[in-house]
Amino acid sequence: MDASGSLRIANVRIEGDSELRQVVIEEGVIRSIQRQDKNFAADLDAEGGLLVPSLVDPHVHLDAVLTEGFPAPNYSGTLIEGIERWSQRKPYLTEEDVITRAEEAIRWHMGQGVLKIRSHVDICDPNLTALKALITVRERVRDVVTLQLVAFPQDGIFCFPDGPELMDEAMRLGADVVGGIPHYEWTREDGIRDVEYAFKLAEKYDKPIDIHCDETDDDQSRFVETMAKLAYERGWGQRVTASHTTAMGSYNDAYAFKLIRILARSGMAIVANPLDNVVLQGRFDTYPKRRGMTRVKELMAAGVPVAAGHDSIMDPWYPLGTGSQLFVASMLAHVGQLTGTEELKQCFNSITYAGARVMGLEDYGVAEGKKADLVIFDVPSSTDAIRLLPRPRWVIAGGRVVASTPPVTTDVLWNGIEQRVSYLR
Ligand SMILES: [Zn+2]
Repeated sequence: MDASGSLRIANVRIEGDSELRQVVIEEGVIRSIQRQDKNFAADLDAEGGLLVPSLVDPHVHLDAVLTEGFPAPNYSGTLIEGIERWSQRKPYLTEEDVITRAEEAIRWHMGQGVLKIRSHVDICDPNLTALKALITVRERVRDVVTLQLVAFPQDGIFCFPDGPELMDEAMRLGADVVGGIPHYEWTREDGIRDVEYAFKLAEKYDKPIDIHCDETDDDQSRFVETMAKLAYERGWGQRVTASHTTAMGSYNDAYAFKLIRILARSGMAIVANPLDNVVLQGRFDTYPKRRGMTRVKELMAAGVPVAAGHDSIMDPWYPLGTGSQLFVASMLAHVGQLTGTEELKQCFNSITYAGARVMGLEDYGVAEGKKADLVIFDVPSSTDAIRLLPRPRWVIAGGRVVASTPPVTTDVLWNGIEQRVSYLR
């Protein structure tokens, strides 16, 4: 292991392989993955741990992380009170404040094996303080973490003073992705204009699109169909993502069936955010209460790429969170009833390859020639990772170990004798 990004790892397990492997990394790139040879001189012995690519968090709000509780807590835990608390917090935003909190959250992500992050950034601020701060952070972390920034109009494009100009200015300053929030605009017509404006800006700056779309329990909120149509017409499916789309959970089945069909044809992707949405949606319901989730199972079955994001880490909307994408995958499995054998693998895929697809990462994966951004877990399979929620034993960025967690062990006293519990079958 050295600063140039060369590393030789012995005894890794790659999911689905019966034999252990050895990996050679040179200049930050995976040069070879071969059957384990007993004479291999290794820098790191993975002891049979599971080797996976860096986890991906394709949807988080780094400008709001770690603000929970100040200037006041969210007493009700509702979305509405969260928005109120955030508007009270915004006047205290400085570049230094945003940088300090965002970098702390990124360290949490790194410890959890997440080296690919797409952050939405609220641009409804005439000074664009948070965006400028996160552009600084993006440059500071670039050797280790790929950080993409979405120009996100939290308070609307057409119902916020100078909304369109602020979106344009955010893209000009260097945002990587165009955002939107059509369901939050005051009228259906403005919602359509919100989506159309995002596509116009994406064309102007040649950037991808990731819109907060239909994040409501209103079964009449139907802006994803507009996104799918525009993505299909332009052949831009690979560069278009709709985030949240929780209204899909409330659509009638005939409409949902039609919509999922056109989404599959458009080639665009969906990002579900099960942590926030399962606690924030359905709040106007008595019982039965809706789950506030998009139709993950049906979307996956139709071949629509579905990734999953952390969304919040201790902010006015969600007071919990540690940056663990495994916990996100676990919540996705539970809330989406995705406990079939293949479905659990799809949940892991939603925080790895599907997330990389959303972020457009081409050098991603465990294969020769790919960038050596890798994670080793002390578990035999991805399903065990979702079940046990371990922190990674080692996190490797460009061939360098950038985070590690010592093995956690538990002993129980059993008939007077200490026994080690593995939690494995
Ligand atoms: Zn969000």
